[in-house]
Amino acid sequence: NGGDLRGTVALVTGASSGIGEATARALAAEGASVALVARRGDRLERLAGELAGPGVRVLPVEADITDRDQARAAVARTVNELGSLDILVNNAGVMLLGPIDGAPIDEWDRMLDLNLRALLSVTEAALPHLLHAAESGPRRVSDLVNISSTAGRQVKRGSAVYNLTKHGVGAFSESFRQEFSRRHVRVGVVEPGAVDTELRDHLRPEVREAQAQRMASMERLQAADIAEAIRFMVTRPRHAMVNELLVRPTEQD
Ligand code: NDP
Repeated sequence: NGGDLRGTVALVTGASSGIGEATARALAAEGASVALVARRGDRLERLAGELAGPGVRVLPVEADITDRDQARAAVARTVNELGSLDILVNNAGVMLLGPIDGAPIDEWDRMLDLNLRALLSVTEAALPHLLHAAESGPRRVSDLVNISSTAGRQVKRGSAVYNLTKHGVGAFSESFRQEFSRRHVRVGVVEPGAVDTELRDHLRPEVREAQAQRMASMERLQAADIAEAIRFMVTRPRHAMVNELLVRPTEQD
């Protein structure tokens, strides 16, 4: 354990907090060089300073990936400065819950823009590099990891558009698998239950309050629990692909 990813380059979106930050830590601990992508550049700089070490280069890339040009530029900078791209973790996401009736429609747009369009922009830009790494990289396999949610499998009232985006992530990932498996670009979907991160800070106050009450009596997952699932996925031998990992807090319904 430790060092399985030496010589590889990973890009993690949403690396400034929560699951993305924990994932960057876990991949760097395995020896991967990591590009950290998010909007809050100060946080990325701090994390980069902490994670960089012998054989591990860490590149903070401040970008709003809902802007396609910025998404493409983030991938290009990663490859230019770190030399390749072996692992892409599409983690950046937003969860804005509430009933369909009376929903602020800008919340739906924000979820579609980040959870789907931005994921597609980064993936499209990364694809030639993932294919190249699968052909001639150190492991001769590359990895796309998409962060979905229990909401990608289980539909609930009050979660319509979040459910829509996360089901979309699952559907895209399965079609991706069928298209690229023979070329050794693996794809894995991770579906976390409730994780203690900043995700719920963006909810409207009345929705946040209802969520907080539901979560009050439950011990949630830590971001590191999900990072561990991602680490497991991307450190399998070349002939093994873990397509899906569903990780819930033990006490979650
Ligand atoms: P956080 O809110 O802590 O992290 C979200 C990350 O996305 C931040 O780093 C944020 O950085 C980044 N981000 C937001 N908007 C943009 C943007 N426009 N461009 C680039 N980066 C952006 O939440 P989590 O860590 O919990 O969420 C990560 C993923 O996990 C999401 O896809 C979420 O849906 C999923 N998930 C989370 C669960 C949970 O209970 N926490 C459960 C199931 C799934 P910045 O603001 O600096 O740009």
